[in-house]
Amino acid sequence: MVSACLMGRRVRYDGAAKTSEDALLAAWRRQGRLVAFCPEVEGGLPVPRPAAEIEGGAGGGAVLDGTARVLTAGGEDVTAAFVAGARAALEAARSCGARVAILKEGSPSCGSLTIHDGAFAGGRVPGHGVTTALLERNGIAVFGEGRVAEAAAYLREHGEGGGPGDGDVRG
Ligand code: SF4
Repeated sequence: MVSACLMGRRVRYDGAAKTSEDALLAAWRRQGRLVAFCPEVEGGLPVPRPAAEIEGGAGGGAVLDGTARVLTAGGEDVTAAFVAGARAALEAARSCGARVAILKEGSPSCGSLTIHDGAFAGGRVPGHGVTTALLERNGIAVFGEGRVAEAAAYLREHGEGGGPGDGDVRG
C-alpha cells in the first residue's frame, strides 16, 4: 500500500500532491504491486481541507485508544474521520494482501517516524500517524517515502511474493 499523494494524486489538505520520484517505488508501480490509498479522503474529509494535527503530538496510538483527538487549527474535532480512514486503510490493505505500506512522512494519518506536535507551528515530534498506528498494530510494516529500500529489505527478509497488488488507485 502507498499514500495516494505520493502517487501524484492531489489529495493533500492543501489540494496538492507530494509525488515520489523514488525509482524503486516507480518500478513497483509499473509491476502493478501498489495499491494507492488516502485515509483522510476515504475517511470522509474533503480536498482541500483544514490542516489537522494530533493534540499534544500524542501519536496515532493515543488517538486509537481514545486518549487524544485530531484537531484543526480552528479547533474542529476531526478524530472520527481520521479513525474511519485508518480502518478503511486497514481493510484495503488486508483485502489486497499488503504486507508493507509506504506512507507520507510527517502526516497525522501517514507519518511513521515523525508527526507534528499539535501546536500548528511546524514543530515535529517522534511518533506515528493514526493510519500508521493501526496498520502497525495489525502486522503491516510502515515505512516513510524516504525508506523504500528498507521496505524492500523487509520484504526480502520476510519472503518476497505475497499479495498480488491490483494497481488500484483510490483517494
Ligand atoms: S492522508 Fe496520507 S495519503 Fe492522504 S494526503 Fe495525507 S499523507 Fe497523503
